[in-house]
Amino acid sequence: MSSSAVKISVARGDGIGPEIMDATLEILKAAGANLTYETIELGEQVFKRGVMNGIDPKAWESIRTNRLLLKAPITTPQGGGYKSVNVTMRKAFGQFANVRPIRTFDGFVPSKHKGVDMVIVRENEESLYAGIEYRQTRDTCHGLKLISRTGTELIVRYAFEYARANGRKKVTCLIKDNIMKITDGLFHQVFDLIGAEYPDLVKDSMIVDIGMAKIADTPERFDVVVTENLYGDIVSDIASQVAGSVGLAGSMNLGEGCAMFEAVHGSAPDIAGKGIANPSGLINAAVLMLYHIGQGAVAAKIGNALLYTLEAGQHTGDIAADKAKALSTQQFAAAVIANLGKSPSKLKPFEVGSGKAVAMPSAKATTRSTRIKALVGVDVFLDAEHTTALELGAKVDKASTPGLKLEVVSSRGLAMYDPKNPTKKPETEAVTDLWACRFAGQNVSNHDVRQVLANLESMGLDWVKTENLYTFDGVAGFSGRHGG
Ligand code: NAD
Repeated sequence: MSSSAVKISVARGDGIGPEIMDATLEILKAAGANLTYETIELGEQVFKRGVMNGIDPKAWESIRTNRLLLKAPITTPQGGGYKSVNVTMRKAFGQFANVRPIRTFDGFVPSKHKGVDMVIVRENEESLYAGIEYRQTRDTCHGLKLISRTGTELIVRYAFEYARANGRKKVTCLIKDNIMKITDGLFHQVFDLIGAEYPDLVKDSMIVDIGMAKIADTPERFDVVVTENLYGDIVSDIASQVAGSVGLAGSMNLGEGCAMFEAVHGSAPDIAGKGIANPSGLINAAVLMLYHIGQGAVAAKIGNALLYTLEAGQHTGDIAADKAKALSTQQFAAAVIANLGKSPSKLKPFEVGSGKAVAMPSAKATTRSTRIKALVGVDVFLDAEHTTALELGAKVDKASTPGLKLEVVSSRGLAMYDPKNPTKKPETEAVTDLWACRFAGQNVSNHDVRQVLANLESMGLDWVKTENLYTFDGVAGFSGRHGG
């Protein structure tokens, strides 16, 4: 092996993991990939030793040093406080981008649609999927939807750079900013601002519900799709499923710290050890990795041999039309190796320059322009049972101070009590025990907020959370209340 060989960490995973990894490594070696391999332990065996995140300390060191991980699927034990290896890795290594190419193999692998060739670029660290949740009362829980300008810029810029480098024409942003005007509004705004720097690409944005419906209906019309973490999680499964490529697709998780390449599917415990698993998802992940590290010629050689094998009707049991003629995992790998150097005749081939790597954008928040941040109020959340909006509102109003006056009491985002009209009954009574009391003023200070909280406490009211209300250059950084 030449001195420029790239060292990668390899995790053989659980279930069908070792079988498909062996097949993939054989192909990489036969194709002449300029790699050396360091095998690490992740997953079931490590969980069993009581390591709750499933990552061996030596594995951390290997990944940190090599910065490249080819990973087979891992079984996450149900319950018991075990943490997903994937989520831990993404967060620890700042892997802000999850990139999943989705295509059909028209005429050779059954699918509901033809001509699908799209790439989903999913933000990987923020949104509701960050899983930051709280239970404040006996009845109510909150989940935090976290969207930062910096995190959004990173993913949006990556999506545009990826599109440009890879000859893509259009980038579609999926958001729900008709409802979540501040969080999804920020994502959309950053998409528009960064998009203006790419006049050569078509920009499109869609409300996520109709966007997903259209991806399910006409996936062939999409090119690059960029979206938030939770939406991306859902839409990438929808797109893979309708394209019929769930078992064949690879994906990459990219960031500053290290890059991780894996199949989209899981560890398939139902067929583990039988030697019948389809290794194509992991092979495609390895192809993505080779492009990422600049070994495009070997990437194209393997990708084309895989396409040629699929065209030749050499299929594993999961996609074989005639199950009696299905190849084992090993036989399939041997077929791909025998076909190295051949190209598909009908399917769009891989080229040396397909899948070009993109320099990781840096976290600069270049679109930030706000200068003046002003505190204009506070939402105080109360845990109060067995009361009505009018009764509670009248009581809470007495906690107002000269600096902060009660403006509205609401439940689940619906205005229930207006201190200017204190006898007006709400359309409907609150059904939960969590109330939001909004106090507003001019030139507010945190001292005013503490005074309101002290007043509420002295009345025996149980405040469980506060949310400061700010304006940014005069624009409200908080949502209004419905029906107020
Ligand atoms: P799965 O993808 O493992 O299996 C779903 C179905 O697809 C099964 O019938 C399986 O036999 C089949 N299948 C999957 N991959 C195949 C392949 N390469 N060849 C042929 N058939 C294949 O999903 P699941 O059953 O929901 O999850 C099983 C385990 O995998 C769970 O513990 C889950 O947490 C884990 N998982 C891991 C990852 C990962 O490590 N990235 C991803 C998803 C699920």
